Amino acid sequence: MLLYDFDYERAGGIEDAVARLASLGREARAIAGGTDLLPNMRSAVAGPSVLVGLGGIEPEPPVRLPDGSIRIDALTRLADLVDAPLVAAHAPLVAAAAHAVGGNQIRQMGTLGGNLCQEARCLQYNQCHDYQFVAGCYKRGGDCCYAFPQNKPGVCWAVHMSDVAPALIALDARLDVVGEQGARRLTVEALYTGDGMRPLALAGADLIRAVILPPPPPRAGWGFHKATVRGGLEFGMAVMAARLVLGADGTCAEARIALGAVRERPVRAESAERLLAGAAPDEGLLARAAAEAARAASPLPHHGFSKRGLTDAIRVHLKRTLAAALERARAAG
Ligand SMILES: Cc1cc2nc3c(=O)[nH]c(=O)nc-3n(C[C@H](O)[C@H](O)[C@H](O)COP(=O)(O)OP(=O)(O)OC[C@H]3O[C@@H](n4cnc5c(N)ncnc54)[C@H](O)[C@@H]3O)c2cc1C
Repeated sequence: MLLYDFDYERAGGIEDAVARLASLGREARAIAGGTDLLPNMRSAVAGPSVLVGLGGIEPEPPVRLPDGSIRIDALTRLADLVDAPLVAAHAPLVAAAAHAVGGNQIRQMGTLGGNLCQEARCLQYNQCHDYQFVAGCYKRGGDCCYAFPQNKPGVCWAVHMSDVAPALIALDARLDVVGEQGARRLTVEALYTGDGMRPLALAGADLIRAVILPPPPPRAGWGFHKATVRGGLEFGMAVMAARLVLGADGTCAEARIALGAVRERPVRAESAERLLAGAAPDEGLLARAAAEAARAASPLPHHGFSKRGLTDAIRVHLKRTLAAALERARAAG
């Protein structure tokens, strides 16, 4: 489908963008790199009549704040995030996750904020839009679900595919959000509603201004894996990010595990984290934690992958991801 005509307003700064979005109302949408929004407009998944452009706002480079946390501007292009020396040195998990997104062209245009706020995906909803010319699905205002015909009216199981969100959740990052009522902080987990119809807990004029990574604890190690069929320019089958923190005695003081591309939102694997916390980690424990995470995630079948296949992929790859995190944590100690 051809892209329809729309108006465009170039914002002079984030606060200006918020003010424009607030005064334009529901017809307007912010656009950063446009790599998610424009294809969605072409396939009539989104239909704003005005775009408020963030592309003219120069992002501030990542900085270390006085308390040791790191502030990353939400308008930072993913390619710049991958290359930022501060991020590589202090948050390599974020750099690895940003590098996993799409291909180089997508990373040159796509931004951190846009990655977190991308639309959830479903083979029928986003891609095979031929169907949708016959009758729209619930998410397009219609009265059926092609992917899960047994779904109750209004229930959408489109999957959130951000590669970066699981990494930020594993690092316990916070978002600096600006809206009509001013600025507020929220966790990355709180950004997501878990409702495929409306995946983000943001009001119409809300924009993410920055991501704040807390200071990394000592003896911490990270792991990241994006399971894909081809390993190239591809959305993930399942995405996993983990951070393990070891105590002075080598036991696991803290575990944070997050999974992406499994449900309508990125999910924390809290029951698996509890298995690890306080225990002496060995191969058997990592395998049990990975199996528990896969079970608890209960992944939605998506993009042709079965629930069983996705569960197995998480179980196998998460064990390796945890092993990588443990090795790094031991090396850091
Ligand atoms: C071929 C292809 C492959 C892709 N592969 C991947 C992949 O492997 N992994 C992956 O995660 N994504 C992938 N994407 C999705 C997308 O390109 C990226 O997630 C990208 O980071 C989106 O950023 P953007 O700046 O282009 O977002 P935009 O398209 O500009 O915006 C996306 C949404 O976020 C909102 N938004 C943008 N900035 C902000 C902000 N600061 N605050 C609040 N809302 C905001 C917009 O209003 C819009 O609704 C792919 C896309 C394509 C076309």
